[in-house]
Amino acid sequence: MSAGPDRHAELSADELRDSAGLRNLALSRSEVDRSTARRSDAAWLAAAWVDPGTRVLVVSDGQALVRSGDGPAELVFVAPQQAPEGVRFLLGTDADGVVYFGVDGSLPLPDAGPVPGAGVQPISLRQAGPLLSDRDAGLMTHAVALGNWHEVHTHCPRCGAVTEPELAGHSRRCVVDGSEHFPRLDPAVIMLVTDPDDRCLLARNALWPERRVSILAGFVEPGESAEQAVAREVHEETGITIEDARYVGSQPWPMPHSLMLGFRARATGSLEIKVDSDEIAEARWFSRGELRASIASGEIRLPPPVSIAHRIIESWYGTDLGGAW
Ligand SMILES: [Zn+2]
Repeated sequence: MSAGPDRHAELSADELRDSAGLRNLALSRSEVDRSTARRSDAAWLAAAWVDPGTRVLVVSDGQALVRSGDGPAELVFVAPQQAPEGVRFLLGTDADGVVYFGVDGSLPLPDAGPVPGAGVQPISLRQAGPLLSDRDAGLMTHAVALGNWHEVHTHCPRCGAVTEPELAGHSRRCVVDGSEHFPRLDPAVIMLVTDPDDRCLLARNALWPERRVSILAGFVEPGESAEQAVAREVHEETGITIEDARYVGSQPWPMPHSLMLGFRARATGSLEIKVDSDEIAEARWFSRGELRASIASGEIRLPPPVSIAHRIIESWYGTDLGGAW
């Protein structure tokens, strides 16, 4: 039997498992149409804003109000007339025709503002994402991402003058030179590297507490492809050379404005790890059995299930894993 066809058969099985394992990433879900064609339709936007059925999600510093109690967790919306001052952006329209806006402003505190109710509190996207429905997870991820951008991109990078929101909050324009500026995303790669025995490489960032480990990650640099960034980051951080970097899925991570691009890659050549001690405190290879035992003994803890890192590790491991931070 030749190695060629076998190798391809294995790759296909891996790919199938990866694509199945990375469905429904907590922050990659949505149910609301973004209504992009309406962003420049001033009359439609004005009518939607005075419609009492319109729902507004207020976000502030990456948080929104979430109601959690006996039932599933849900976002707390306000009507447009109850919305605070702040940058407004169109989030979209659901299947029933309900229009959703976001406002980056002061959260209407449950005990002082227009929103009643026990069990309502401000929660970060990281905490709320896994608890919310597809609709609410998508709305909050979109709103937090735009809110984070507006909060720090108030001035023109060309001339320093003030910029003003346009396109229903999806761009900003300089009041002096007229230049248009779109929301910034910082693409980052995150990759699970395996050796020829299918052990996976986990590392502890130098800034993390003892016992926390994850797969390697880093920002894509200007003029670099995602695949090149995977190879560069793995080599810089651990001295390992990789081949066959393969995309497995992505998740927005607006904390404050990343897009995480998930990869699998194979180590080639020497498996001896030489950590870059500025960034990585320690790194080692784990078989599935070693990973299971290390989690059970409390020797290591994995990133939380909301992260794409957790899901990529699970997709390699083959089933759900506990032991999260
Ligand atoms: Zn300008």
